[in-house]
Amino acid sequence: VLEIDDVSKRFGDETVIENLSLSVEDGEILTLLGPSGCGKTTTLRLVAGLERPDGGEIRLDGDVVSGNGSFRSPEERGVGVVFQEFALFPHLTAGENVAFGLKEWDDDEREARVTELLELVGLSAQRDSYPDELSGGQQQRVALARSLAPEPDVLLLDEPFSNLDVDLRVRMREEVRRILKEAGVTAVSVTHDQEEAMSMSDRVAVVNAGRIEQIGRPEQVFQHPESRFVASFLGHAS
Ligand code: ATP
Repeated sequence: VLEIDDVSKRFGDETVIENLSLSVEDGEILTLLGPSGCGKTTTLRLVAGLERPDGGEIRLDGDVVSGNGSFRSPEERGVGVVFQEFALFPHLTAGENVAFGLKEWDDDEREARVTELLELVGLSAQRDSYPDELSGGQQQRVALARSLAPEPDVLLLDEPFSNLDVDLRVRMREEVRRILKEAGVTAVSVTHDQEEAMSMSDRVAVVNAGRIEQIGRPEQVFQHPESRFVASFLGHAS
């Protein structure tokens, strides 16, 4: 579904992403795991079309969306994003927030889609509640439902739980994994939290200074780190 092929990105003199290649299969949840500043967010922004690569190519469903002289705008990419701050519209209800990206749909289909999504995230009863009447976890689930509503081909999650308290964060990981699997969506998430990467993902890519150090199934990466960086980042060396 998503292919990142030899992509590089510089900001001024600093190379933030260096010859990064990665492909994500249909329905897979892949997590980029690495320390602050290693280029995780930039990678998501490149996929979303919020940044242009300096080299390489990004393909979605086989179509080049960045690179080779072509560049598709974020709106044309069919990519959904969930960022740290859930950024719900405070003056809209949960249901209206979920409906926000469905303006072009006809009324019946939009209502049915909102019902389906609120059911998926377990918030049918909160349809008419405003964000400030919802808990942090409920707000995050509304944000997730809103991103899933337009049926994106790929969903990007940037540290989606970092604003939640610890207990809730742990519960939400499992919950979000279940929701993504049920929706059958392909997702790329980003975190510096190894437990989160471990519990949410089908595959984990450990990123260091804009390069992938190791990629594989969570158990494999955690049990068999292939470089000193991975071992030390995962706490094996200390
Ligand atoms: P964090 O977990 O702290 O968000 P990250 O791994 O997501 O870190 P990025 O946000 O991708 O890292 O940033 C990677 C590097 O690129 C950092 O050194 C950052 O300062 C730099 N950077 C990111 N965006 C820009 C920009 N628009 N202009 C200049 N430098 C930038």
